[in-house]
Formats: sequence, structure tokens, C-alpha cells
Amino acid sequence: DEPLLEVKNLHTHFFTKSGVVKAVDGVNFTVNPGETLGIVGESGSGKSITALSILGLIPSPPGKIVDGEINFKGENLFNKSAKQMRKIRGKEIAMVFQDPMTSLNPVFTVEKQMVETITAHEALNKRQARERALELLDLVGIPDPKKRLRNYPHEFSGGMRQRVMIAMALSCNPSLLIADEPTTALDVTIQAQILDLFKRMQKELNMAVVMITHDLGVVAEVCDRVMVMYSGKPAEYAETTHLFDHGKHPYTLGLMNSIPRITAEKQKLEAIDGNPPDLRALPKGCSFAPRCKHAMENCLTIDPDLREVENDHYVRCLLYEDSKKAVST
Ligand code: SF4
Ligand code: MG
Repeated sequence: DEPLLEVKNLHTHFFTKSGVVKAVDGVNFTVNPGETLGIVGESGSGKSITALSILGLIPSPPGKIVDGEINFKGENLFNKSAKQMRKIRGKEIAMVFQDPMTSLNPVFTVEKQMVETITAHEALNKRQARERALELLDLVGIPDPKKRLRNYPHEFSGGMRQRVMIAMALSCNPSLLIADEPTTALDVTIQAQILDLFKRMQKELNMAVVMITHDLGVVAEVCDRVMVMYSGKPAEYAETTHLFDHGKHPYTLGLMNSIPRITAEKQKLEAIDGNPPDLRALPKGCSFAPRCKHAMENCLTIDPDLREVENDHYVRCLLYEDSKKAVST
């Protein structure tokens, strides 16, 4: 089967006065129809910039995609005009962000916004579009959708507003949804409810999702495969269940230790010491070396390749340098 989305050798840089920020510097992944891929990392790891690159939303200048290819349904998105990209964003690839207020217009009712979005992209009249909006609000679990349709965004709680945002994103039946930290601003209970909604949507809509998060707990809940990013590059890439059982990169293991475990109350939450590096002045060797407990002398001079250490399990770390196959440089 052909992947729905194929990101090849993506490099997105920002040309600032204080230097070139290599926000994304060599990223490869695929997303199959109906599949959920997690992209996980700290802020500044390049995960949001990867998403914006796919969507054609990199602010330019100072940003620029300097290399790579993004194939969606077999066509390179970099060959599309701005107008074609707008169309694709509304209809084929939808997005949900951390703060729904940035995507919802505060001065219009939910009905007006949803009907407008739907009629702009589908051959439906207003009445039909309103019907569709009602179905979608119901689908995402908003009680009493008929009444709620007439509300303004500020009249919803944070969790309900995120559901409205998701309903809007679904309004044109996208084949790919990109969700950037969709639960981060919500409290834990509401977070769990929104993740349940994602799971239900996966079952009912067969839609592919790219889930961007700093939280491996979110990945464990909803993602089929996961790419861990560090300083603009993939550190590790594998099936989710495989990663949790056989994760290898010291950064991945650090992220795993920082997932709160409800079952082991006493276990100390172990955050990874130190901060991500300055992307304008990356260390010469492995960019994780200043924070890595396993750093060796070589790590300060050699930037490791991403290698396939087992079937479909890729790691960028000199501890696994013996693995035969290097897949990118
Ligand atoms: Fe740590 Fe070295 Fe592996 Fe980098 S290459 S993650 S510094 S062991
Ligand atoms: Mg971000």
C-alpha cells in the first residue's frame, strides 16, 4: 500500500540575525491511511515545525524549507501553489492546535463558523451544512448540539472548546488530521476524555493522525508508531508497543522515566537534566551528549547516523553504531 503521507529528508531552517536555526534537520517518516503517528519531543525539538512544514505554513522569511520532499497521496506538496495548499488544508489535511481560541473566531457563533467552513469546501447548502455540523458536534461528544450550535466559543469550557475545534477540523472529512499538543492545555480528566475521543475517531472514521506531543503517555494511548525528536532530528523511530518494550536511545529512556505512573506512587518522577541545545550552535558530535548519562568520548566528535537496529526500529546513537544499516546521514 502506498503511504498517505511521506516526509523525505525534510530540512526547515530559520535565517535569523543571530544565526541559522536548523529547526528541522533531516526528518523522514511515513503515515499510512488510518494510522496514528506520534511525534514526541521537548519544545524546540522541531516537532511543530515539522507539522507546519507539512501544512505549508512556515513563515517565510525567516523560515525556509531548504531540502526535502513531502508527498501526500503521491504528490509533492512543495509543487503546489499557495492557493492549492489552502484548499488541501481545508479539505484533505485538517489541524488542531493546543489552544482552540487561536483557531476559533471569538465574534461568531459555532454555527456560523462551522457552516462557513463546510460550505466553502463541500457542495452543500446552508441547511445541509447545519445538519452536518450537528452530526459532528454529536460525534465529538457535545451534549445538546442544537442549542450549543448557537453559542460563541467563549461560552464553552476548555475541554468542550477543544471538542468544537476537533469537530471543525473534521467537517470536511479530512484523510489526515495533524494535532499539535491537543490536550496539553487541559486538566488530566479532560485530557483523558479527549484522548478517548481520538481513539473513537480512529475506529469510526479511518482517518490518519499525526499527533504531536511532549508526552509519551499520550503516545502510549493513541499512537501506532512514534518518532522521538531531539534538536531537529529523529532520535528513535519505532512501533509504539515496541518502543515501550525495547526503546534504546538514552533520550527516549529519559522521556519514559518522566511519565507519571499512577501504579507506582513512590517512584520519583525523573526529568531529564539540562536543556535542549541552542539550534544555532549545535555541539559538534551527538547533540544529546551534554545531557546524556552514557556519553563517551566519541560522542563529542561524531554525530551518529540513524540506524535500523531491528526491523522497523531506528536509533540515532553511537551505542548502537554496530548495527549494520545506516538509513540517513
Ligand atoms: Fe548519548 Fe553518545 Fe548515544 Fe548521544 S551518541 S545519545 S551522547 S551515548
Ligand atoms: Mg510546539
